[in-house]
Amino acid sequence: MTEPFRYTTFPQEIIFGAGALAKISEIIAQQNFSRLMLITTHSQRANGNVARMETLLGEKLVAVFDSTQPHVPQANVDETTRIAREKNIDALVAFGGGSAIGVAKATANSLSSLISLLPSILAIPTTYAGSEMTPVFGVTRERDGVTKKETTNNARIVPRIVLYDPLLTLDLPRELTASTGINAFAHCVEAVYSITKNPVSTLLALDASRLTFHALPRCYENGNDVEARTDMLQAAYLAGAALANVAMGLHHGVCHVLGGTANVPHGVANAIVLPHAIRFNADVCASELVLIAEAMGIARQNEEAMALDAASRVEDWVTRMNLPMRLRDAGVNENDLPQLAQLAFQNKTVQNNPKKIARIETLEHFLRVMF
Ligand code: NAD
Repeated sequence: MTEPFRYTTFPQEIIFGAGALAKISEIIAQQNFSRLMLITTHSQRANGNVARMETLLGEKLVAVFDSTQPHVPQANVDETTRIAREKNIDALVAFGGGSAIGVAKATANSLSSLISLLPSILAIPTTYAGSEMTPVFGVTRERDGVTKKETTNNARIVPRIVLYDPLLTLDLPRELTASTGINAFAHCVEAVYSITKNPVSTLLALDASRLTFHALPRCYENGNDVEARTDMLQAAYLAGAALANVAMGLHHGVCHVLGGTANVPHGVANAIVLPHAIRFNADVCASELVLIAEAMGIARQNEEAMALDAASRVEDWVTRMNLPMRLRDAGVNENDLPQLAQLAFQNKTVQNNPKKIARIETLEHFLRVMF
């Protein structure tokens, strides 16, 4: 039976295809953007993509910020906001992973208290994190002596144009291919069992799961496999679109705390936490996790057993792709676990988990098992 649901759509144009970057000048002309700021990372300067963007964008490119740091530190946002105001920027071109896109979203958001006409965001993702599809961003700040990543949801800052060019992902290193690919898969898992799941997000998540299951191992084995890279980028898009419409749960809340406070790279946190989050939710969410298990080709059997098999299958991926499997291997200090558990307990996303978590001790145990 169809359950009641709510579903929000955002005004976005998606341009997807190998070589799509070549269309950027045409898109910018159509949109009448005339004063652009590129927001990216040092790695895109090093691989020549900043120079390429300078050529493609010409005189319309009036500022380049290439110092994006992971987890979107407030200092990055302060600087880009200042430049955007000074240079009267009308579009932010976010080129890179979730961090560059996060800086662009946070910049637009901080401008919203200063000016009425916000710059549009044109996002060009080069990882599988999916942030380009959502109205949410996190900024890492220090408060009361604790460094924390705080999330904001603002529909006005959703990237208006998203340009997906699989050729830009060919140089994504193996570890980032694996970890950001697991991040995309985690969006699917938490979308299907979300407390705000809906028929559209479930469809998107299941198709993305199927694509990820086939394409991610191929991308890991051979980064230059354009067909696999294209499928995996499409999976990341669909997973991001699923994510945009639902509340995430335990997995994402814990990953945010591990990123913002213990500085674990987002994809690596996803790889460590996901199998444990699936196991934690396996009893309450068995009928939803079965759908993910089927998308992974797991044979039909008892529902909870299928959900547990899905967790083991993710663990196999993580092992085969040589990602860290324990928090200790990702630089987390054992003495920090009680504080991380406390922050996770206060985290709204954790509280949105379909299987309710009533005690901090449950989270401390959850973290210790992963340590
Ligand atoms: P990232 O953006 O931090 O990038 C990781 C590293 O990969 C960087 O050094 C970057 O320069 C490099 N890189 C990116 N693309 C590359 C390429 N093609 N070739 C070579 N190097 C490349 O990592 P991420 O996992 O993409 O994003 C994580 C961030 O995004 C976190 O802050 C996370 O919270 C956020 N996020 C937000 C949402 C959302 O909906 N708001 C969704 C997912 C992730």
